[in-house]
Amino acid sequence: MKTIYFDNNATTKVADEVLEEIKPYFCKLYGNPSSMHNFGGQVGIKIREAREKIAVLLGCDPSEIIFTGCGTESDNAAIKGTLAAYPDKHKVITTRVEHPAVLSVCRDLENHGYTVVEIPVDRKGRLNIDQLAESLTEDTAIVTVMYANNETGTIFPIEKIAEMVTGKGIVFHTDAVQAVGKIPLNLSKSAIDLLSISGHKLHAPKGVGILYVRKGTRLAPFMLGGHQESGRRAGTENVPGIIGLGRACELAMQNFSEENKKVRQLRDKLEKSILEKCPDCMVNGDPENRLPNTSNISFEFIEGEAILLMLDKFGICASSGSACTSGSLEPSHVLRAMGVPFTAAHGSIRFSLSRYNTEKEVDYTIEKIPEIVNKLRKLSPFVPKQT
Ligand code: PLP
Repeated sequence: MKTIYFDNNATTKVADEVLEEIKPYFCKLYGNPSSMHNFGGQVGIKIREAREKIAVLLGCDPSEIIFTGCGTESDNAAIKGTLAAYPDKHKVITTRVEHPAVLSVCRDLENHGYTVVEIPVDRKGRLNIDQLAESLTEDTAIVTVMYANNETGTIFPIEKIAEMVTGKGIVFHTDAVQAVGKIPLNLSKSAIDLLSISGHKLHAPKGVGILYVRKGTRLAPFMLGGHQESGRRAGTENVPGIIGLGRACELAMQNFSEENKKVRQLRDKLEKSILEKCPDCMVNGDPENRLPNTSNISFEFIEGEAILLMLDKFGICASSGSACTSGSLEPSHVLRAMGVPFTAAHGSIRFSLSRYNTEKEVDYTIEKIPEIVNKLRKLSPFVPKQT
């Protein structure tokens, strides 16, 4: 059975071009980039080239890029590194809908004497900017707000928030793990101080991430050890990962608009047809500001997990809640923060597409979903009885 993969916010296929590029760095060019000999030095040159390619996609200087092990590490390093650099400040501002890579760090900080403010969102997942503005005080060390939500695709007005926060002399971090490659970024024209990226969300391998650190931003190193990344992140580099991420960023830039347009059209077709064919469904997230690839749909009266299992039988991969919370039957913290009713939150499915999806796959899924939903609703005790 062919796999139809609509779970690209969880992880993505490594692009064929990326795989080709990184193959030599496992068994042939396996030198350590820090070595004095040429065998290692040539690998160091490839890392430099990757850094330059990534800087082009982000619109920043290559020296502003620190390679990390994943998006989670980048988020941890940004928050904890800022707090260590500003030991006199004890307040952190974030949102209720962050990924656990940010939210659990912030919640843990409360156990260590920090005040953490979690800004709420409305029914469409839009942030209460006025409350954020009112929360900015002298004692605030960092504001961390995600660029785009991994579950609903809702995009926050990050440039506006960054200007507001940094205008008060407060460090601003954004988790852009779901945004990079899907919406254009130009950090040279931005007030963002710190920005996190994860390789495996944009067709690079797993195990590599980036923390962008704007020149002049105070940040204590998160990992101590060797002198890699100019002493800002110790540990021997994930050479194939970094080279792969460089190539993936290059690919993301080629045909950026056309590919995102194609993905958006496929997503819209999928979403529109599901809503037409299945009664009692709704889309979660901000319809005006949403990633082009993401659709989060609530199917009333049935469990998201049951839908996933039946989709799986047809080879269709999607997700209920975020990848990291699936497996637990707690409804998603993002949908709860948006005030999505409990039953609708339980029946929510996230479809996340990529440039590798085709119209044929969308058509097949559109055919299967109503069948699955009807079948499950016939078995559901929650469907209201007709009078
Ligand atoms: N931030 C967001 C918004 C994410 O969606 C994810 C992964 O799903 C992460 C952070 C964590 O990234 P990684 O899996 O590279 O640690």
